[in-house]
Amino acid sequence: MNNECESLIERKSITTVCIVIPCYNEAAVIEEAAKQLVMVYNKLIGQSMISPESKILFVNDGSLDQSWTLIKQQVDKNRLFAGLSLARNKGHQNALLAGLMIAKDIADAVISMDVDLQDDVSCIEQFIVKYLSGYDIVYGVRSARDTDSFFKRVTAESFYKLMKFLGVEIVFNHADYRLMSKRALAGLSEFKEVNLFLRGIIPQIGYPSTTVSYERKERFAGESKYPLKKMLSFAFNGITSFSIKPIRFVSMLGGISFLVSIIMLTYSMISYALGNTVSGWTSLGVSIWALGGLQLLAVGVVGEYIGKVYLETKRRPNYIIDQVIGLKYEKK
Ligand code: UDP
Ligand code: MG
Repeated sequence: MNNECESLIERKSITTVCIVIPCYNEAAVIEEAAKQLVMVYNKLIGQSMISPESKILFVNDGSLDQSWTLIKQQVDKNRLFAGLSLARNKGHQNALLAGLMIAKDIADAVISMDVDLQDDVSCIEQFIVKYLSGYDIVYGVRSARDTDSFFKRVTAESFYKLMKFLGVEIVFNHADYRLMSKRALAGLSEFKEVNLFLRGIIPQIGYPSTTVSYERKERFAGESKYPLKKMLSFAFNGITSFSIKPIRFVSMLGGISFLVSIIMLTYSMISYALGNTVSGWTSLGVSIWALGGLQLLAVGVVGEYIGKVYLETKRRPNYIIDQVIGLKYEKK
């Protein structure tokens, strides 16, 4: 630890950190993740950089395997661990939110990460140093995507570019590996959306933020819980939750088709006047198809947004908590 870092630690009262880790059918990796994180915590506690009251909170997102049993074992073994079990599987984003909302009441700074050890645990120290120097949000940004398959790399990077094009503010190549201060989390809790896309919401909170770059590794064990279908629905959700450009685009297409139809009308009137009306059924057929397609597309896009409104108006809870172990928790 360098001098600058030491003086930062002295300046603030000792920080309580909580790492929040959503887990869905992750029995193959929980023990290893726990082992590595305890090593990191022991080092940081030894350096008095974080308080011994700090926690590592595993969120069991309705796993069907032994994940929850393994989490309970870790909590019994070491007081650094805590566990939260949701009543059923609600997906990565909701599981993460459930963990963050509990962690914000017990920690000064909260770090979210995946359990599969793809996120480099050695960055945790850098995250905390940045927090101590005054940043409320520290985004972990991947420096390279060498460990991803070609397909995942291309689709993921195109997704970030598309989001940018659509005017959605997200941090390029940042997944959900980040640190947030207590007040940033309080800000997050003000967002009452049911359609949760945390990467889009968090930059909206504001407060000073910075990035730390890291190399994302391969999954330690097990398989990705984001198959293509889930990835597409995640991307689609991200776009429609934050951008109304698709609706505008459809209206624009409608406008252009209307202009084209006026030109076509003029053209057919002139053709009629000149007596060349027999031919032309091909173009007619084509335009019927083109317009029909456009209309369906437009109705579909509008429907997507209406669907969103429908889900939001129901105000359903994002998750329901079954059990919390290893920390004091009062149901609000
Ligand atoms: N996850 C979850 N609920 C789900 C799907 C995933 O809590 O329904 C967790 C998963 O256990 C992991 C994190 O979310 O800790 C990210 O998932 P994964 O590593 O499979 O995604 P990838 O890195 O392949 O995009
Ligand atoms: Mg992963």
